[in-house]
Amino acid sequence: MTRFPALIAQEMDAADPLARFRASFSIPRMPDGSETLYLCGNSLGLQPREGVQALDAVMTDWAKLGIEGYFTGDNPWADYGTALRASEARLVGAKPIEVAVMNSLTVNINLLMLSFYRPTDERPCILIEEHTFPSDQYAFREQIRFHGFDPDECLIIQQARDGEDHLRTEDILDTIEREGERLALIMLGGVNYYTGQFFDIPGITRAGHDQGCIVGWDLAHAAGNVPLSLHDWNVDFAAWCHYKYLNSGPAAPGGAFVHERFARASDLPRLAGWWGHNRATRFQWVDEFDPEPGAVGWQMTNTPILSTAPLKGSLALFDEVGMDAIRTKSKKLTGYLWDLLQEIGDGFDIMTPADPQQRGAQLSLRVHGENGRAVFDFIKERGVICDWRNPNCIRISPAPLYNSFEDVRRFAELFDEALHSVA
Ligand SMILES: *Cc1c(COP(=O)(O)O)cnc(C)c1O
Repeated sequence: MTRFPALIAQEMDAADPLARFRASFSIPRMPDGSETLYLCGNSLGLQPREGVQALDAVMTDWAKLGIEGYFTGDNPWADYGTALRASEARLVGAKPIEVAVMNSLTVNINLLMLSFYRPTDERPCILIEEHTFPSDQYAFREQIRFHGFDPDECLIIQQARDGEDHLRTEDILDTIEREGERLALIMLGGVNYYTGQFFDIPGITRAGHDQGCIVGWDLAHAAGNVPLSLHDWNVDFAAWCHYKYLNSGPAAPGGAFVHERFARASDLPRLAGWWGHNRATRFQWVDEFDPEPGAVGWQMTNTPILSTAPLKGSLALFDEVGMDAIRTKSKKLTGYLWDLLQEIGDGFDIMTPADPQQRGAQLSLRVHGENGRAVFDFIKERGVICDWRNPNCIRISPAPLYNSFEDVRRFAELFDEALHSVA
């Protein structure tokens, strides 16, 4: 069995400018009181102190102000979501008018598709990637059916080549070129939830636009994980959640992006509600819907303040650290995990691309043989919290805001031990 020297990890932790942020987070514990080895930030990020404080502040305002909390206090609820737009815009590389905190991810995908997926007989298809998250796949298939088309014919799924785990950009671009005239929409996951592949968002968006397609992105595994420039990349629309890398708590509200060029496209078909109505007349009870310019025009319903509060706290932390610093550490941390896994060598392979530019924090490990689940259970019993996908995939995500190099080293040792113990 390989033993990885603790000194190297300790030195990297000592030199890590983000190490101090670990203290902001509550690390879950084992029944015996010891800390777990939490490597599951891709599914549910840990709770930051800042999130608790923001939630406490809302509860206090509610207790003290009642309905007056909508327009008074330090963080009036009527504009609670709007106040987050600047941070949200920084996070995804957008202008504040292009983003909204609203609803949840799958709801936003469906709402935005009603406006941006406009199939015609000549152009009815949607291009997605292999291993699309099931929720997205359900949404795509039912949207196609909703418009009277057949999902089996109209959903085009980009497959990896035989014997390969992730997609080649050139293959995606070839498909767009070949099928372009039939594609109404291209919608991939910015970082694929299963393989961890980070796609060439600007290149694919440009190729789609060249063919006259609308290009949207599901950024569930990209937001807060990798740097994004949605405005400059000319992305048409995007949606993401905040409970994964953005640490905002279970089922926290989602985020949406609509490019500025659609900010005043009031002719786009959409579903409406009072919170998407022009802020200036929202509380004057006018009869005709007048969408607020920008992404907020899709919001419909009022901001769920209690579940948005942890997001407010978490975004403050992301503002303080900045995505550049997060990405810099993330590359080192995941690169270190990659290197240690190479030293272990046998018994598994890594589905995620080797190229650091084509991945975020997550590595997806495929355990060989029938023992994947036993390996997972072995490390789980010893305190590792990570993610299992049938039939044989273990997903590991060291999160740069709270995971250390020592976490990664300890994981590698346990994983190595597990491969030898259960094989
Ligand atoms: C996590 C995730 C979802 C979850 O959707 P919710 O609407 O937030 O429940 C959907 N799609 C992808 C790609 C995801 O990673």
